[in-house]
Amino acid sequence: MTAQLIDGNALSRTLRAEVATRAAALEARGVVPGLAVVLVGENPASQVYVRNKVKACEDNGLHSVLEKYPAELSEAELLARVDALNKDPAIHGILVQLPLPPHIDAHKVIEAIAPAKDVDGFHVASAGALMTGSPGFWPCTPYGCMKMLESIGCELRGKHAVVIGRSNIVGKPMALMLLAKNATVTICHSATPDLGAFTRQADVVVAAVGKRNMLTADMVKPGAVVIDVGMNRNEEGKLCGDVDFAGVCEVAGWITPVPGGVGPMTITMLLVNTIEAAERAAGAT
Ligand code: NDP
Repeated sequence: MTAQLIDGNALSRTLRAEVATRAAALEARGVVPGLAVVLVGENPASQVYVRNKVKACEDNGLHSVLEKYPAELSEAELLARVDALNKDPAIHGILVQLPLPPHIDAHKVIEAIAPAKDVDGFHVASAGALMTGSPGFWPCTPYGCMKMLESIGCELRGKHAVVIGRSNIVGKPMALMLLAKNATVTICHSATPDLGAFTRQADVVVAAVGKRNMLTADMVKPGAVVIDVGMNRNEEGKLCGDVDFAGVCEVAGWITPVPGGVGPMTITMLLVNTIEAAERAAGAT
């Protein structure tokens, strides 16, 4: 079997076009959807991420403000900026790029963001909303994975989904989203013995670990859907996921590539959350 590709770039184009249409409809009512991106310090990867997020906003009709601060910014100063953005009616979504310098308590800063503007979905209120099935913002990466499953018509009811990884930003929310769609969910992590015994039973596998080639063909049930969240570099410095792509392609029914899979979907769902936040603020939904 050769797996079919779930193309994150193509799906992103479709979803971003929908965002642009919704942004134009809001603008016609005098509301310009706005995202504030706050970057503290000079982390090179973070600089690339925020640039991509700001550009994605500009390309799709969202107003974005990039606030860059030196690594020496104090926690109190950053909290004051978040407070000002919370009160700014032109800003509907606030994203504080992580990681923050070690002298700043990232949890405290995320908790300072108004839940109505928490478009990253990292606030405890957003996590609680996901857990209880209440309206809130879902973290962008697992939300993007759900959209990819939806795009191939993957019916999750009664299926066994195995999530590898239990971080607060990917693994745990991913498991809750799959559960909400009536999948039977198993969460695996670094203390799981015989990972393959679990993944071989899975109709859907989501790998969110950060270790290259950790999911190999012998660990995958024939025809399974494999979502690769991992972002790693191989010996040549090329971007690759957690899945042994060539090998698993021969067994799986569907697979996401890296690059061009979950990565673009993460930014896309940030745009979706931001337009949603603006619509809610404008009373349009
Ligand atoms: P974390 O490091 O926070 O979590 C990794 C998880 O993998 C942990 O729960 C850990 O278990 C588990 N793990 C580690 N080793 C094993 C193992 N041998 N077997 C099973 N589980 C294991 O990472 P994130 O969740 O933040 O990110 C995961 C990956 O996804 C990374 O590569 C990251 O770069 C990528 N990523 C990609 C995004 C995208 O847009 N494509 C966005 C966000 C992340 P334990 O809890 O026991 O330590």
